[in-house]
Parts: sequence; structure tokens; C-alpha cells
Amino acid sequence: MSSPQRVFTNSHAWRQVAKAITASHPYCGRCGVTQQLQVHHTVPLAYLLANGEDPYDLDLCEVLCARCHRQAEPAAQQSPNPQLLLQR
Ligand SMILES: [Zn+2]
Repeated sequence: MSSPQRVFTNSHAWRQVAKAITASHPYCGRCGVTQQLQVHHTVPLAYLLANGEDPYDLDLCEVLCARCHRQAEPAAQQSPNPQLLLQR
């Protein structure tokens, strides 16, 4: 069984977008390293997909290295009310 998030992140369309994002922002937004860059969703991807929000919205994406991404992910998933994050 694949989660909707995994299906999304493995999709060709998303990989192309992620590649473009990291190409235009080739360093980690937190520690500045330029290796193992990944695109982090500041609003949990599961929430975006479940609520019909646009997972390609660049305002919700942040370039992080693998290490910072691991640290960022659990915090985002534990966010009590992701809706608050969408209100800017
Ligand atoms: Zn980093």
C-alpha cells in the first residue's frame, strides 16, 4: 500500500517540479549546504492532498537538505491545526 503522499512524491510531474525548485534555489534554506537537497512542504503534504490544496504551490515549498528535512518533517506532521499555516 502506498500512501497518497508517497504516490505524489514519486510522480514524474512532482519530480520535475522539485528538480526545477532545487535548481533555482541550490542550497538548504536552514543550514545552507548544497548537497542532498529536497523540497519540503511547509504545510504537511498529507493535509494538502486530503483537502484539495495545491501541492505545487511554491509558497508552500522550501528547499532543505536531507538532514534538515528529517528534522522538519515530524514537527510539521504534529502541527495541531495546519489550516493556521495556510492563513498568511
Ligand atoms: Zn540543511
